[in-house]
Amino acid sequence: MEKRLKTAVVREEESGSEKTGTVPHMVIIGAGFGGLQAARALRHAPVQVTVIDRSNHHLFQPLLYQVATADLSPADIAAPIRSILKHQKNTSVILAEVTGVDVQGQRVLMHERSVPYDYLIVATGARHSYFGHDAWEPFAPGLKSIDDAAMLRRKILLAFEAAEIETDPEQRRALLTFVLVGAGPTGVEMAGAIAELARDALASDFRQIDLKATRIVLVEAASRILLAFPESLANKAERALTRLGVEVRTNSPVEAIDSEGVVIAGNRLPARTVIWTAGVAASSAGQWLGAEVDRAGRVKVLSDLSLPGQPNVFVIGDTASLSQKGKPLPGVAPVALQEGRYVAQVIAQRVADKKGGPPFRYHSHGNLATVGRSFAVVESGPLHLTGFLAWVMWLVVHIFYLIGFRNRLLVMFQWAWEYLTRANAARG
Ligand SMILES: Cc1cc2nc3c(=O)[nH]c(=O)nc-3n(C[C@H](O)[C@H](O)[C@H](O)COP(=O)(O)OP(=O)(O)OC[C@H]3O[C@@H](n4cnc5c(N)ncnc54)[C@H](O)[C@@H]3O)c2cc1C
Repeated sequence: MEKRLKTAVVREEESGSEKTGTVPHMVIIGAGFGGLQAARALRHAPVQVTVIDRSNHHLFQPLLYQVATADLSPADIAAPIRSILKHQKNTSVILAEVTGVDVQGQRVLMHERSVPYDYLIVATGARHSYFGHDAWEPFAPGLKSIDDAAMLRRKILLAFEAAEIETDPEQRRALLTFVLVGAGPTGVEMAGAIAELARDALASDFRQIDLKATRIVLVEAASRILLAFPESLANKAERALTRLGVEVRTNSPVEAIDSEGVVIAGNRLPARTVIWTAGVAASSAGQWLGAEVDRAGRVKVLSDLSLPGQPNVFVIGDTASLSQKGKPLPGVAPVALQEGRYVAQVIAQRVADKKGGPPFRYHSHGNLATVGRSFAVVESGPLHLTGFLAWVMWLVVHIFYLIGFRNRLLVMFQWAWEYLTRANAARG
């Protein structure tokens, strides 16, 4: 590829100063799993890196449900992007919402400013998709950000409070009914966590209501839960959920959601708390780039994760669509991490005028999902594990990937405390 070495002119948000340099300027949009990994992998490369994110923190989304169910505090799973990258001398951070990309002019557009790039990595993740039923969103919020998790935690805890003072038995039943729409890992993990919150942590705190009567319904349109897992493991997870008192309803597409609950197969299920744990759609990157997208709005990329016709623009993580062995890569953290690392390597090689390497290959290490505080299912190649040992493995993997020594220690301490006391530490 012809080396297009523009002089990087980076306006720094906080100082208003302009930096100029003669090294290529890399802009990374999004400091989630993929973007942050790419930035870190470029720390020794002769490039100037600018990371732009609309949040000031990197978020460990796999544990968001534990914030929503009062197991963890928001700060346990979020780390400031600036502090993660503070020792990386070639990198600066801009807190801003990207609104578009001028591909011809090679500039990233924000509301009142723009930043030029020589290379661009788009790693803006995904958002909820209500499969064309956007009107359901106010009644069935999803879980994607710290704000979502904090709002859900409030909603869940206030439902118990409202039930305590409700005198009408039907209203009380609706207040104590929690419906989760979508039985992927998030739905399964959250259903288990709400069941334990009601039956263990809160059980002795209320006088008027019997929390054993709490109804948690996990609704799934497909014929089984955890479609990404082997069927035998999914069946064991379903049995573990049932032991916790969760009602699992498969083959049950939701037909309507409103303030009174959900409608399944023509029958209304009254519930004051409905949580959307079903579909996701990619961010708006496809529109910004004028690129071809798949059904979920993910940008179709070439095997080196670059945009067709734009060899200096890369799209990674949940925003990218790439198939391997005839199947689209899943929207999971390891894909984003490996893609971030790969793209950083491709760019470093190009900057050094070296030939490109092999195409991107995703190496899956398997799938994990937990059901409550002592049961998980783990699939890693031929290894299929369930039960306590699998749960310990789930725990270790999540602690390992949490960013920041402090976060790891805090989360480990909180989990140990809750495990021993059966209390939820973050109910305040
Ligand atoms: C509740 C939940 C549970 C999950 N559990 C698991 C799990 O157990 N295991 C697993 O492997 N995966 C899990 N995932 C999926 C995993 O989190 C994603 O696959 C992963 O985060 C994708 O990484 P990414 O870098 O593509 O995007 P993200 O990590 O989502 O990062 C995107 C970043 O882009 C920023 N951004 C977006 N739009 C803009 C904009 N316009 N301007 C500026 N910045 C922007 C965002 O603020 C964010 O920081 C879960 C996801 C959710 C929501």
